[in-house]
Amino acid sequence: MEVPKQQLSLSPPPQPKQELASSPPQYVVVAMMPTPGMGHLIPMLEFAKRLIRYHHNIRVKFLIPTDGPPSKAQTTVLRNLPNAISHIFLPPVTLSDVPQDAKIETIISLTVLRSLPSLRREMTAEIHPIGGLVVDLFGADAFDVAKELDVSRYLFFPSNAMLLSFFLHLPKLDKETNCEYRELAEPIKISGCIPIHGKELLDPVQDRTNEAYQWILHHANRYREADGIIDNSFLELEPGPIKELQKYEPGKPPVYPVGPLVNMDGIVSEPGLECLRWLDEQPHGSVLFVCFGSGGTLSSVETNELALGLEMSDQRFLWVVKSPNDKIANASYFSADSKADPFDFLPKGFVERTKGRGYLVPGWAPQTQVLAHGSIGGFLSHCGWNSTLESVVNGVPLIAWPLFAEQKMNAFMLTQDIKVALRPNKNNSNGLVEREEIASVVKCLMEGEDGKKLRYRMKDLKDLAAKALSENGSSTKNISQLALKWTKKTSVAN
Ligand code: UDP
Repeated sequence: MEVPKQQLSLSPPPQPKQELASSPPQYVVVAMMPTPGMGHLIPMLEFAKRLIRYHHNIRVKFLIPTDGPPSKAQTTVLRNLPNAISHIFLPPVTLSDVPQDAKIETIISLTVLRSLPSLRREMTAEIHPIGGLVVDLFGADAFDVAKELDVSRYLFFPSNAMLLSFFLHLPKLDKETNCEYRELAEPIKISGCIPIHGKELLDPVQDRTNEAYQWILHHANRYREADGIIDNSFLELEPGPIKELQKYEPGKPPVYPVGPLVNMDGIVSEPGLECLRWLDEQPHGSVLFVCFGSGGTLSSVETNELALGLEMSDQRFLWVVKSPNDKIANASYFSADSKADPFDFLPKGFVERTKGRGYLVPGWAPQTQVLAHGSIGGFLSHCGWNSTLESVVNGVPLIAWPLFAEQKMNAFMLTQDIKVALRPNKNNSNGLVEREEIASVVKCLMEGEDGKKLRYRMKDLKDLAAKALSENGSSTKNISQLALKWTKKTSVAN
């Protein structure tokens, strides 16, 4: 039976509670609280869509913490969802006392902490049984509310299993280490993962004196309180870390890999359509896609080197160009855009010289559609986890150019462990990836023997990803196990 959307509202109950008690409820609600950031909201929404696809006795309710009006990006992805998924924005919290230089991890964590009273209010007002509360990597403080209301607690980890393993290992590492992790002489060993040097770890753990590190540690310490951890990866992609994570250990929550969760129905605007039309005219597998995610930007010097490197490579390319970060006033992680024309910062004559084989898109391209296009043969990426998975599901090999957050770790794993990416070297004296190096790596990926190997490996992973998500695939089975747990406790009608 299709349930009208208004019945999912968190407002006063439309029917007396006694009635509900006498007949089995039609469905349970799974409450999901994504923390601020599109990279957290999108994969959680994809998870919700997969959950309700096969489990009609579950409705998902998104309770979204905010510190102001919802962004256009948020309202866009929350539009046109299936009826079984509803959302509300929790009242905005005040962050005026937070120092200007506070890091994003601190801001997100405080937004969650200050939203807990309204989360409690909304969950208490819910008239249907709540099967579980799902929060993401910075949301573990909401476990207190779930515990108080006797609701089971789940962590949704939107990134890879290696990073999850690191988070679970961090409390021990913190106790054992007296210096900064980058000063450790030996690589850090985490069960099931390739040993990694401290300097490759995610940004917020690079300065242990910063509050952002304390927040990361705080959340990592609380992960073990979860009844289960849901990870946006899949067994066949990361067998090493996932097998270790799934080994039973007292006090360690069960881990459910449910990926790759990728939003394939992006909205294509007119400039986006144009670049897809240009791709239609290019030979199969001939174009390198260049894009640094939603917030990633290069400096002017890096932009210049990249442009000249692409030109020297003699390959076709589709580049999402953003204004350099040293030319943008007040850029932030959430809005790295500027009013300036990004093309103004390209080397003189570059556009004319590469006309025909190079296509430039200012600011934003329909990435999932681009990566799915047959003309794409490689992806120069900042290695954000969503971009990485989008490349995997389309079988496109990568050039890894990490910028911030956990991207260096992802790049390390993609080049050293999964072996689907090439990583250009920096010149040690100036820290720059220079044009000659860029040209050589691009050529190698697009037409060299190494590139061919990576392409085969990616094609295998593409098939394995499709299998994991098929009806009997590993990720689908894990979602079913979760659905069973969330519906069992409340003995919902089937
Ligand atoms: N994206 C896009 N067009 C762009 C840039 C990014 O559609 O021009 C999408 C991309 O498909 C991915 C997301 O934005 O889904 C970026 O997420 P990711 O985790 O890769 O990086 P982040 O933006 O969080 O750094």
